[in-house]
Amino acid sequence: MSISRAGHRLPPGRISYVDGRYVRHADAHVHVEDRGLQFADSVYEVIAVSDENLVDAAPHLARLERSLSSIGMRMPASPAALTAILKEVARCNRLRNGLLYLQVSRGTAPRDHAAPDNPTPTLIVTARRMDPSQMAARRAKGVAVITVPETRWARCDIKSTGLLPNVLAKTEARKQGAYEAWFVDEDGFVTEGSSTNAWIVGSDGAPITRSLHDNILAGITRGVLIQAMSDAGIAAEERAFSLEDAYGAREAFITSATGGVLPVIQIDGKRVGDGSIGPVTRNMHTLYQALSLKISML
Ligand code: PMP
Repeated sequence: MSISRAGHRLPPGRISYVDGRYVRHADAHVHVEDRGLQFADSVYEVIAVSDENLVDAAPHLARLERSLSSIGMRMPASPAALTAILKEVARCNRLRNGLLYLQVSRGTAPRDHAAPDNPTPTLIVTARRMDPSQMAARRAKGVAVITVPETRWARCDIKSTGLLPNVLAKTEARKQGAYEAWFVDEDGFVTEGSSTNAWIVGSDGAPITRSLHDNILAGITRGVLIQAMSDAGIAAEERAFSLEDAYGAREAFITSATGGVLPVIQIDGKRVGDGSIGPVTRNMHTLYQALSLKISML
């Protein structure tokens, strides 16, 4: 047993946080009637850790507050207190590079669809190591995406753990040897990926991504990239694009906390552009990295 900086007695090995306690990952449990399990009555965030820095943590926690507020809940702790917990979980796990997963559910209550009046939320934080060279290899090679029909609900702005359509879409992508699946709505427009925002580069070189008014998740990586572009005098076109537009695009890429900016070189088995990674996508990666690093150092 060692003692964490926050004064907690820590067993060795992988550590998770559940409701105020830092525990061995194998002992990290929630109640069988937790509403996260019973109803997906819960929201979450995934925050990358890069060289021990929490990447874009402040906007992630701001989005957590928005998700919670959309389901009638308050933050379980202040952003500063949550940041301290995230950092402590990272430290306990000796996490240099990887992901922190944070979930807030509406707590444990006898099973009933109607939300209880004064719930005590469940707060979970887990950590996972990632080898940065793996993502770098993916970035250097580019990834393939497939497309699937949009089957999700009308509140994709809420980062809910109700992810069954996303799970099925990603599973289908893996089955077909692709990295990601893009949802396509009834009108033939790409909405977003199962766990990423979708982008294409138009014939004039302008990056295009669906508008936040159009039922997608406000990706933090997407937002930071748009800010970085704006700082560099590049305008992002926030508008819907069709699958046909995507097939004919010069370049395409996806954004997420897990992968940053990742080039897409194939959509539904068709090459994007000449099938190589284009200059706009490379520039987007550089711009995102620079601003994200600046934000994370604040
Ligand atoms: N869209 C969906 C549906 C997602 O699950 C994610 C990943 N959280 C994203 C977009 C990308 O968001 P972010 O950049 O905040 O990771």
